[in-house]
Amino acid sequence: MKKTKENATQFEAGQRSRLEGLREHLARRTRKVESDLARAESGAEIDSEEQAVERENDEVLSALSGEGRDQLELIEAALARLDAATYGLCATCNRPIGRSRLEALPYATTCITCSKKQGG
Ligand SMILES: [Zn+2]
Repeated sequence: MKKTKENATQFEAGQRSRLEGLREHLARRTRKVESDLARAESGAEIDSEEQAVERENDEVLSALSGEGRDQLELIEAALARLDAATYGLCATCNRPIGRSRLEALPYATTCITCSKKQGG
């Protein structure tokens, strides 16, 4: 089957709605984590044992928050690429990224080949 322009547009529209859904989900989660962090930081008068546990939780929250922000940036970048009609092109080799990869990772910036090269 030949890929028509309409198919590509439909695919991109689907990816856009998935990205927007992901963005909303992540933004909400990041905000929650950040408010939890703010509360943890302002929490005074805890005994030392509790404080140790709190600190451990803080580290988890910090990591989660950073990860969420990174992912949000990737999602924003993918949405920008959709607007610029460069969505689905590998940032490294400029070849189209496979649809199955984009379906699994809607904000992928590199094709599977380049991603493997970078990872290994
Ligand atoms: Zn590539």
